[in-house]
Amino acid sequence: MKKISLIVPCFNEEDTVEAFYHKAIEVWQKLDQYEMEIVYVDDGSKDRTLQKIEMLHEKDHRVKCTSFSRNFGKEAAIFAGLHHVTGDAAVVVDVDLQHPLEKIPEMASLWEQGYEVVEGVKEDRGTEKRIHKGFANLFYSWISKLAGLDMKNSSDFKLLDRKVIEALKAFREKTPFFRALSFWVGFKSIAVSYTVEERSAGATKWSTKALVKYAFRNLISFTYAPLYMIAVLGVLVILFGVVLGVDALVTYLNGTAQGGYPTLLFVILLSTGAIIFSLGIMSIYIAKIYEEIKGRPQYIVGKMID
Ligand code: UDP
Ligand code: MG
Repeated sequence: MKKISLIVPCFNEEDTVEAFYHKAIEVWQKLDQYEMEIVYVDDGSKDRTLQKIEMLHEKDHRVKCTSFSRNFGKEAAIFAGLHHVTGDAAVVVDVDLQHPLEKIPEMASLWEQGYEVVEGVKEDRGTEKRIHKGFANLFYSWISKLAGLDMKNSSDFKLLDRKVIEALKAFREKTPFFRALSFWVGFKSIAVSYTVEERSAGATKWSTKALVKYAFRNLISFTYAPLYMIAVLGVLVILFGVVLGVDALVTYLNGTAQGGYPTLLFVILLSTGAIIFSLGIMSIYIAKIYEEIKGRPQYIVGKMID
């Protein structure tokens, strides 16, 4: 009998872990040709999330958990889940029921047809704040263009075949971007659209600040475009310098040259600005290299429930 595992990242989700479990059991009535496994990843929750998961595990040993020593973020949680699962396929899904579990039978039948990645694509971004929606659109159109991947409305809700799980487990990046990597690894994939549901309980774990940070982090990890932009900026500054230089020479030879203090100030400020800006971008990448080279683990496991 084939097994499908669910990878469920949880951060302070004491109000939702049980509802998720019951929903999964309900959906599995239509999927009884498969074994099931729920791998919760407790991402350093400060509330009773872990106790709730332990209670579920006592009742039902198909419930498992990797619990982090502190909060390492959703990406790390997803990767920990990939390392923990034993299924022939795994579905990454949010615990708050915003990703409809009812879609899993459809995803599973596509998997049976030979698709190795079944991407959940958001039909509607639900009740996200307008600023989040606008920002998300901007971010995905940008990263899709820069990284050459079409990721519009993509989400972390995906079914992955064992082959894909193994490919992702081989990654050694410290700050992986799961959503894009599942495109990057290739494989036979297909999209399934779904409507984002209301959160079952509790509040979103993402602040606007956290989302902006997340977007920058992923942009830096997926594209070198800002570095190339430095080169373009350099060329522009040189062209500008040539134009001003020619002008200065001509007026000097004409004898019409004026005291050039404002021009001088302007040119100096402009070029120093360009240099500092470029150094800034390079520093961001250097920091990133430093972070990777330190070789710290992506997450630390505090407790395993198997
Ligand atoms: N999550 C996590 N670690 C974090 C933040 C969130 O594991 O640091 C989990 C969270 O418990 C949920 C999923 O990631 O299962 C999506 O989070 P949330 O619902 O807060 O985000 P939103 O749906 O608003 O994008
Ligand atoms: Mg949510």
